[in-house]
Order: sequence, then C-alpha cells, then structure tokens
Amino acid sequence: MQRTLTKDLVGKVGEEVLVKGWVNTRRDLGKIIFLDVRDKDGLIQTVVASSASPEAYRVVQEIRSEFVVEIKGEVKKRSENTINKDLPTGEIELIAKNIEILGRSGTPPFDVTSDGREIGEDVRLKYRYLDLRRPRMQTNIKLRSDYMQALRQALLKKEFVEIETPILTKSTMEGARDFVVPSRFQPGKFYALPQSPQQYKQLLMISGFERYFQFPHCLRDEDLRADRGFEHTQLDLEMSFVTREDVMNTVEDVVKEAIQKVGGRLKDQKFPVFSYEGAMKKFGADKFDLRTDEEKENGTLAFAWVVDFPFFRPVNKEEVSDKFDSKSEWTFTHNPFSMPIPDHLDYLMRGENVDKIITTQYDLVCNGLEVGGGSIRAHKGEILKATYKIMGYSDSQIKESVGHMLEAFSFGAPPHGGIALGLDRQIALLRGEVSVKESMAFPMTSTGRTSVMDAPSQLPKEQLKELGIKIVDK
Ligand code: ASP
Repeated sequence: MQRTLTKDLVGKVGEEVLVKGWVNTRRDLGKIIFLDVRDKDGLIQTVVASSASPEAYRVVQEIRSEFVVEIKGEVKKRSENTINKDLPTGEIELIAKNIEILGRSGTPPFDVTSDGREIGEDVRLKYRYLDLRRPRMQTNIKLRSDYMQALRQALLKKEFVEIETPILTKSTMEGARDFVVPSRFQPGKFYALPQSPQQYKQLLMISGFERYFQFPHCLRDEDLRADRGFEHTQLDLEMSFVTREDVMNTVEDVVKEAIQKVGGRLKDQKFPVFSYEGAMKKFGADKFDLRTDEEKENGTLAFAWVVDFPFFRPVNKEEVSDKFDSKSEWTFTHNPFSMPIPDHLDYLMRGENVDKIITTQYDLVCNGLEVGGGSIRAHKGEILKATYKIMGYSDSQIKESVGHMLEAFSFGAPPHGGIALGLDRQIALLRGEVSVKESMAFPMTSTGRTSVMDAPSQLPKEQLKELGIKIVDK
C-alpha cells in the first residue's frame, strides 16, 4: 500500500490509507489513545480504540512521543463538537487498524512542539536534528530554500550563470583572519578557506562569463558575537561592463522579485539611496532602520542603499586582522579590489589625500542591519597596485599577494563590479528572527563549536605527524 501524506488525507474520507510519520503527542484516555502523527507537512489525529482494534491498541501501549510509526486505518469525519479549526486536517481523523513501530525514540531532551525560545542554545544545537523538528524551524528552513530558489530564478532570467569556486584556496582579504588548512603533499604549506569568492568571481569576468552568481559559504575567523558564526552563506554575484547604478538596479530587481515571491512585505519599491556622510549625519550610523512603529509590527522590510564610503581608514593597532592586511597606517574600509569614484582616481594613483578618497562601494541595509555590500572593481593592474601601495606593500609583497590578479588583468579585463548579500541575515529578517542562527540548519554555538558534532577537536598523533605539524603551547 502506498503512503499518503497528511496534507492529502482531507480528500480521502471513507478510504483506507497508510500514514507514516512521528508521534507528535500521545493522549491516553484509557480505552482510547490519541496519537497526533506528524509528517513533513502537518498532523493527523489518530484514534486507537481498544475495542475496535485490539492489536493496534496493544502496540500503542509502547509508543511515546517522537516514535516513528506507520499506521493503516480509515479516514473519518470528526463529529461536529471535536472539529479543530486551527488544523488543516481538523475536520477528519484516522481510525487506526494497524500500527507498526518503524523507529523508537528515547525521551527527547526538550519539547520539539514549542517554538523553542525557552531552551538554551547549547542543548538546542547539540540536538539540532531534534530542534529542527519544531514547526518554527521547519518553516524557517523551508523559507530559506524557497527564497534561494526565487533568487536563483530571478538571476537566471537575467542571464546570470551559476558557477562554483574552490574552497581550498589562497587568502582573499575581507577584513577578517583566514581559516587555514595544512597541505599533506607540501608540508609546511597551507591553503586558506575563502573569506569570499572575490578573486575567483573577478577572474570569471576576465574569462568572459559577464554575469556570475553562486551561493558560497564564506569563512571568516572573526570574534564571535551572539548572532555571528565563523561561516555564513552569501548570494555572491559579479557583472561585466556595468556602472555602480547598473549593479544596484539589478540587485534591487532580483531581491524585490524574490522577496515578493516568498510573501515578504517591502516598504519601498525603489530603495532610497543615502551617502555615507548623509547617513552618518541623519542616523549617526551607516546602518539604519527606516520603518515606522507600525511597519515594525507587521514585518515590513525597509531596504536602503548607502554609497560614497571612504576607501581607507586608519589601521586599528588592536585588531589582528588589520595587522595582517595592512603594512602602513592605512587599511581598506570594505574591499581592496574596489575602484575609487572617477574623480578620486588621481588621488589613489598618486597616494595623496588618502583620507579623502571615496570608493565606489555600495552597501545594502535593511531594518537597521547591513545585508550586503559590493563595488565596481579596479580592473587595471596599476589601480590595484596603487591601493596596495597605500597599504604599505612593497612590489614583491604585492606580487606575492595579488600577482596572479595583476597578471590576469594584463590579458583583457572588462570593467566589472558586483556584490555579496548575506543570505542567513535576509532569511532571519523575512521571518522576524533576531538571530541569523534561526535561519541556518546547523549553525555554530556562540563559543565556536559546531552543531551536533564536537568540532574543533584534537587530531590523532599520526595524523599530525603526516601533516608535519607539532602542537606547541602559546
Ligand atoms: N566580496 C564581497 C563583494 O562582492 C563583499 C563581501 O564578501 O562581504 O564586494
């Protein structure tokens, strides 16, 4: 007999069906036991009566919450006074004839039917596979899938090509420390995990793809905050032969289309644009919330652009990543691969008025948070070199760091620009969640441990030996 999903039971009154799923709740009224059986879409109330089906009644004695069961029975209309209007299947129930236990469950460490906000993060993430069973998390993760598909469709319509780039790679500066991976074949050498696919996507422009996107995982060894892990997913894109406005308009179209497709509510059809200076004056910050109180209540998303950021800022001596990135007193504010605005190209090339140079960077903010950023890139070697010179790099240090990009630029690089949007954050905003972790299947704990699996962990001695690594006390 074929399985019927709970969502398809409504049309099957009077029929015999086979239902499979988890026991959401069990209510024991003595001669009758009620099981609410849950599958990926919903619930069905199941009645197991001692008189009508003694065999099923015997099996149900053992059954507890979260057991996996299959139940053969008949779909019946509920009597008028027991209809549950809150449930799509509230007018029917399943009269069990046969029950089989497919998987037993110990007592779960927490209730998976609540919204889970009362439970500590450590235990939720240790048992994330159970935590994900709760309806709130099912909705969040499914919305994530729907939103990604909607973005993908919108981009494909605009002739973007989805291209993956490597995870084992060389350092790309995004203002954080790199995660590194030792090489077994070349002891003493390391790969860096990508802080972003920045250089690869630029190389793809040089390859002639003209419009690229992917949903990359980006890894940044940053200080952890309640809502920031080491790993995040972006919608990353890059376009050739474009101005800053072209990229902003394209992103706006794509984001708007996808948000509307998943039922999100937008404040503005045309996202307002603020200059960095204007935003600082008006809001005291470059991330700001344009919603009214009423819009905050009803889950509106208020997007805005911020442009005309300073290209450089003084190095913060306390910040270790600043020390890695810069060799002078200046480091980049957003992205070293950016182009300055045309009027300031001369300053950059001459290394003058460094504090005044404005970059082509554009940031997308939503409801008080930064949700993305990008820029028009320097597509000529001498421009990228000038940026590195301002950051104090010698010719040989520039070659070591971005020599491959300079070489690539020498073979016909089109003008290009792009952006990366934080996907986790957008899902959280769409769902009115405060933490990005609520939009990820397996996020990290606030102390940097992985969900369910206990990483980071020690390596066996033999593995260290093979990699030529000795652990020393710091
Ligand atoms: N690499 C991004 C860009 O497209 C920025 C980021 O990853 O945050 O400019």
